[in-house]
Amino acid sequence: MPIPTTDRSYQLPPLGQNPSSTAQGTTPGSFALRPALHPGRAGALTFASPDTPGMPAPSEKTAWDFLPADWTLRPGYGVGAGELSHEQAAAWQPPAQFQPITQLEFARVGVITAEMKRVAEREPHLSPEQVRDEVAAGRMVIPANKVHLQYQLDPMAIGRASKTKVNANMGASPVSSSTDEEVEKLKWAERWGADTVMDLSTGGDLDACREAIVRNSTVPIGTVPIYSMIIGRRIEDLTPEMILESLKQQAAQGVDYFTIHAGVQREHLPFIKQRLIGIVSRGGSLLAKWMIVHGKQNPMYDHWEAICDVMREYDVTFSIGDGLRPGGLADATDQAQLAELVTLGELTERAWRKGVQVMVEGPGHVPFDQIEFNMKLQRRLCHGAPFYVLGPLVTDIFPGYDHITSCIGATAAGYHGAAMLCYVTPKEHLGLPKKDDVKQGCVAYKIAAHAADVALGIPGSRDRDDELTKARAALNWQKHFELSFDPDTARAYHDEDLDVDTDFCAMCGHDWCSVRISKEIVEFTSGKDETYKWEKAKVTAALTPEQQEILAKRGVLSPEEIHRLAAKTKKVMTSEADKASCHSDYVDPDTAKKLQEKQGQIVELTLP
Ligand code: SF4
Repeated sequence: MPIPTTDRSYQLPPLGQNPSSTAQGTTPGSFALRPALHPGRAGALTFASPDTPGMPAPSEKTAWDFLPADWTLRPGYGVGAGELSHEQAAAWQPPAQFQPITQLEFARVGVITAEMKRVAEREPHLSPEQVRDEVAAGRMVIPANKVHLQYQLDPMAIGRASKTKVNANMGASPVSSSTDEEVEKLKWAERWGADTVMDLSTGGDLDACREAIVRNSTVPIGTVPIYSMIIGRRIEDLTPEMILESLKQQAAQGVDYFTIHAGVQREHLPFIKQRLIGIVSRGGSLLAKWMIVHGKQNPMYDHWEAICDVMREYDVTFSIGDGLRPGGLADATDQAQLAELVTLGELTERAWRKGVQVMVEGPGHVPFDQIEFNMKLQRRLCHGAPFYVLGPLVTDIFPGYDHITSCIGATAAGYHGAAMLCYVTPKEHLGLPKKDDVKQGCVAYKIAAHAADVALGIPGSRDRDDELTKARAALNWQKHFELSFDPDTARAYHDEDLDVDTDFCAMCGHDWCSVRISKEIVEFTSGKDETYKWEKAKVTAALTPEQQEILAKRGVLSPEEIHRLAAKTKKVMTSEADKASCHSDYVDPDTAKKLQEKQGQIVELTLP
């Protein structure tokens, strides 16, 4: 019988951009789509994953299609002049008395603001012109309240042409925390890489807490203003006047973006009936109650244009809330959620007509297989306005670990189109995050955002990974830790087992250290970068108080053992007697071979 043959050939998919600016290593690069960063519709594809069949295509429209009604086409432009002219700043003429206020309006009249320049400085893969054009198209926002710009705000951008951003939530609740604690959490979140921070206080002195956070932050601050609207009153008693007054007050304080749950409509509420877990958004549930009590439409929806006027005055950016986001896998991508998303698209268009910057919020709890659809449907219905998603959590049965369940979903969300990821901490669903929860949430989400950027092929996004890989290959532990996101934790974990920087670590030991063996093979590049060359094994420095604390929290070592690690001097080892029992010191290839022979673990490696 003939033996069946199998075709074992393969072909790589088309390549996007290489995330390494010097194309180091052997990987072919990113498989994501090559971006098309052009003004207007022509640039609808920013950094994007290739569409799985059946996914909604990008919108044909941009913010240029939703200009204020009193803007007119200049002579020579108009119907028949072609799509591109429709999108050029030069084609459009605002009314004579028009004065741009928001970043969107400056972009529409072709001005590159100081904030746009700063964004391009912070994201060197973008030029100031590209930042302006993305803002004009509505695909990028620069949340920068004019009041906050007078304090310490360092402008940044959110959009799929830029790197993926991370938001950290904090805020006092009626049962826990204070203003000082929240400011401390703010600084802590900034330290751990949060790109924006939301003050979600529902207790304590809300105004003082917000003021302190805005004044102390270098990152944009977001709030959900409905929380302070109901302090001391029932939601039923809320009036449109109270809403506008509260928004004005927070805008004047310098808040950079507001979550407004205007998309929840009366017509959507019947869709909630069969849900396993109803409405899980605080704002969504409060407004649903208001609508049911009054038998009227959502007042935020009805008064959207008046709200836009307040936003425009200070250049506060909308983060249009998803009040009907699913609260469990069983309710994901349901009629309520998608009906609301359609309304969010309409609200985006109405805000753009008023010159206000917009991002849109998204779910929540979504099975992994539904994430791409959710991202790409938003891109279509909201015409590319930046998508800001919470998680999403990809499973519901790990309370206490939801920073992990959600950062898995967040990575997929970033890759498929989300521009900002709202962190989730281990305390999600369980209580108010404490300082260490803030760190855990930030780290998990920096991982998600960075992984998405590398996968999307954002130029230069992999450079630090490559440097760390070279330091790791050279077994240069000090550089390895300096390049890592959290050097204290990396150093503490290393020294917990082996407080010597040498040519292996305690994970495999000397004889099984594949990195050391690869480094010793002269024909390999591995481990031979001159920049990371090191000379001699040495006892590591005494652990810092931060590193001791990390080990103490792990509870693996006794206090005496931690004290021993902390009490060391920087003495370099000088004799065999000083070496740890498992230590073989840094060896030349011959010695290494002898050692391996002695252990009977010789690895024969020959190159063709
Ligand atoms: S001992 Fe194992 S884990 Fe440690 S450096 Fe070598 S290969 Fe890596």
